[in-house]
Amino acid sequence: MVIAGGGPVGMTLAVELGLAGLDVLVLEKLTPQQRREADGPMGMRAMNVPTVEHLDRRGLGAALREAQEKAPNPWGKDGDGDSAVVGHFSLLFIQSRLLDQEDPDIRRVGRAVNGGGFVYRADLVELLADRARELGVEIRHGAEVTGFEADDNGVTIHVGTEQIRAGWLVGCDGAHSRVRRIAGIDFPGVEPEQVSIQAIVELAGDLPSEGFGDAGFYVHGPLPGDAHLVGTTEYVSGAVERDVPVTAELVQETLRKISGRPVTITRLHYGSRSTDATRQAATYRQGRVLLAGDAAHVHPPYGGQGMNLGIGDAADLGWKLADTIRGTAPAGLLDTYHEQRHPVGKWVQDWAMAQVALLRPDPRSRALRAVMRDLLDTVDGATYVIKNISGVAASEDSSRR
Ligand SMILES: Cc1cc2nc3c(=O)[nH]c(=O)nc-3n(C[C@H](O)[C@H](O)[C@H](O)COP(=O)(O)OP(=O)(O)OC[C@H]3O[C@@H](n4cnc5c(N)ncnc54)[C@H](O)[C@@H]3O)c2cc1C
Repeated sequence: MVIAGGGPVGMTLAVELGLAGLDVLVLEKLTPQQRREADGPMGMRAMNVPTVEHLDRRGLGAALREAQEKAPNPWGKDGDGDSAVVGHFSLLFIQSRLLDQEDPDIRRVGRAVNGGGFVYRADLVELLADRARELGVEIRHGAEVTGFEADDNGVTIHVGTEQIRAGWLVGCDGAHSRVRRIAGIDFPGVEPEQVSIQAIVELAGDLPSEGFGDAGFYVHGPLPGDAHLVGTTEYVSGAVERDVPVTAELVQETLRKISGRPVTITRLHYGSRSTDATRQAATYRQGRVLLAGDAAHVHPPYGGQGMNLGIGDAADLGWKLADTIRGTAPAGLLDTYHEQRHPVGKWVQDWAMAQVALLRPDPRSRALRAVMRDLLDTVDGATYVIKNISGVAASEDSSRR
């Protein structure tokens, strides 16, 4: 069987299928070095509790903790103990003192409720790839899936002029999934209204560390040396152009527009751009072709959910596909992948979109945001939101895993 795309989701699936002793080939268009460069210095991702628990169950806990040492929790600076920030909803930060310590889920995970910590995505991919290889999975880098034809018995996959025959193809090839497009699977959703930039820059001029204006909002903070980490989110109307390069001029223009201050970007070290486009594949399975991770769903990153959601897809799909391939699955087992994971994706998307709505600059949204701030300052409100966003409430409802 073939997995198209060796990101965190494709590699998690490779480990699952490798553990089941299956013959697995991962086709990844980039080399590990190219992937690392594409992520840049800002490739850090928040992990949630179910993800860390899953990797622990797969014997990867020690390797993960070692990788996480390179990615310190950026919220740690905000305090320890009761004043520690355990998460946020729409950038409304929540401190641990507000969590209900009698709540059974909070008690079960203890301090881990602030999520599973952070990891550089490239490090996570590498440790998963190492484990997959140990399990006999073949990983080919520089191998771009360019096309395929599926029939009732399998899939013929094209990698340039080479053709590979496999029983199954899983598209873990990210938001712009070619597998999804060739399969003709619809990807309905909502168009973006925000464009965000994350950049490492050097800047001149007086600029408060954060600001909310009618055009959007920004935050920035110093890094070692002369560099600054800058995040901007701008509201847009009409179509958003894809693949716009992030330049010093673009960051400067955006910061000036949002802050109203004549700040100057003197140097750009790194920049990436994303939108809040929210889309979900109409089906996660079409015959012998399946989708997982960003190939199946995209949404804004508020709450740090996308990779965790995709790893959850891979964990669910892995054993169902393995049993199906080995012929031990009850009839219809593989279809339960879509039935269980599609609603989970929808739930995550709804929570992400709610956070976007609360950031809108209009007076009604600002009023709603103030109400939400008050709710998050209560024990019940903070506990409810943190339990859900960190995934610890999953034990009550396995469909959220
Ligand atoms: C600014 C930002 C911050 C984020 N923060 C978080 C966070 O804190 N926590 C979190 O959980 N999520 C976060 N996310 C989301 C997370 O990055 C993604 O959900 C996650 O990377 C998806 O993993 P994936 O393996 O599905 O796709 P990807 O990581 O996109 O990997 C897809 C892989 O497929 C390969 N590929 C593509 N096309 C082909 C092809 N035709 N043939 C072969 N290979 C192909 C690509 O090279 C790539 O390696 C964030 C996203 C952004 C933009």
